[in-house]
Amino acid sequence: MNKNKTDKSNSIDESQYSTETHLIYGKNISKKWDYSHHVVPPLSNSVIFRLDSVERGAEGFIEFANPAMNDEHEPIYIYDRLGEPNKDLLEENLAWVEKGETAVSFATGMGAISGIFGVLCKAGNQIIAHKTLYGCTYSLLTRWLPRFNIEYIPADLTESDSLEKLINNSTRVVYFESPCNPNLHLIDIRRIREIVDTANINRTEEEKIYIIVDNTFATPFCQRPIELGADFVVHSLTKGIGGFGTDMGGAVIGPKKFEDALLVFRKDFGAVLNTKSAWTILTYGLTTLHLRIKRQIENASRIAKFLESHPKVEFVNYPGLKSYKFFDLAQKQMRDFNGNFAPGSLLFFGLKGDSSEEVKEKGKQMMNYAAKNAYTLTLAVSLGHTRTLIEHPASMTHSVIPANELDSHGIHPGGIRLAAGIENSDDIIHDLQKSLDVI
Ligand SMILES: *Cc1c(COP(=O)(O)O)cnc(C)c1O
Repeated sequence: MNKNKTDKSNSIDESQYSTETHLIYGKNISKKWDYSHHVVPPLSNSVIFRLDSVERGAEGFIEFANPAMNDEHEPIYIYDRLGEPNKDLLEENLAWVEKGETAVSFATGMGAISGIFGVLCKAGNQIIAHKTLYGCTYSLLTRWLPRFNIEYIPADLTESDSLEKLINNSTRVVYFESPCNPNLHLIDIRRIREIVDTANINRTEEEKIYIIVDNTFATPFCQRPIELGADFVVHSLTKGIGGFGTDMGGAVIGPKKFEDALLVFRKDFGAVLNTKSAWTILTYGLTTLHLRIKRQIENASRIAKFLESHPKVEFVNYPGLKSYKFFDLAQKQMRDFNGNFAPGSLLFFGLKGDSSEEVKEKGKQMMNYAAKNAYTLTLAVSLGHTRTLIEHPASMTHSVIPANELDSHGIHPGGIRLAAGIENSDDIIHDLQKSLDVI
């Protein structure tokens, strides 16, 4: 054992420090890798790891995905798809910031969502999921999981009491996003917990219902669903946590007892996060999360107020607006590390018009104008970037949903999604004003 390492870890109590600081330093000394003389954890670029003996190899295989055993000493790394230090360091910090027991990273957000469904569900199970979902999650639930006889039961979880009637013996998972993509509706996580707790009273361990929250929109800076009652959080690290739009990634955070199954699923289905992305997200994304999201919230709040008072705008959905239908719930569950109101960086708005065709056409005109002429508005999917991004969900991210079904999924056909960046908000508002003038 390295002497300095032992001395330092004994003298510093990380729990005395704030979350922002903790995300910069991570675990002062990690058992996952001895890098105590590097200031920044190094980037590991080795698919395979040298084993000193056949016995060490055998031990590594036995300990893989066996947390009770591998917590006792530094992991024995074998092959990247099973585990390697950069992912382990990232996972340690993700579990910590989301207040979960463990985190398992994946190649993408969709890899993570597939992973947790794969681990919790088997043929014959039902997943109750909110009707407004990220497009690919909806596609996974409607196109692929039914082939394995796992059924998607759509629900309106904004009316949480409707959940009780949908739960039956086959229910295994309650799944939702809050805020929802793209309409920013909110779901009361504490209330869902109460309903699921009641349903779980007489169920065996095998039959228990689990709550999974996709926390991509809020990021842990604005909301920690596990503290509010969720069992699992899933993330697209590609968005606000990664933060710079350079790397894809995903993660599942939840109870330690599912860690081994998640690792084995990841090993066998193969959606493994690459080391460079793990390192980038750990080194740049997590350390700057609080700065970026705080600035994005300031920008989104100003943009929301500007749009709300603009004569051509019909509605603005933003959790931070007093006029917003979910404002009270937002105040209860969207709080930053220090307890301040943190309504997030995304908003969804629609333009005025006499018919839904006209509204959609005007939205298209506005976005096409902005795409060519606005310095600070980028027409692109994704969110949580340093640049402000706009997009049209009905024809882009949510195009898997047929046009005549958009309303029943809570998606306004002409709605525009804006994901605030970290620019000067005067510039964004100037560009929005210009783009609204042309329609
Ligand atoms: C982007 C996104 C995903 C999928 O993440 P990828 O990293 O693109 O696979 C899932 N949920 C939400 C809410 C997203 O925005």
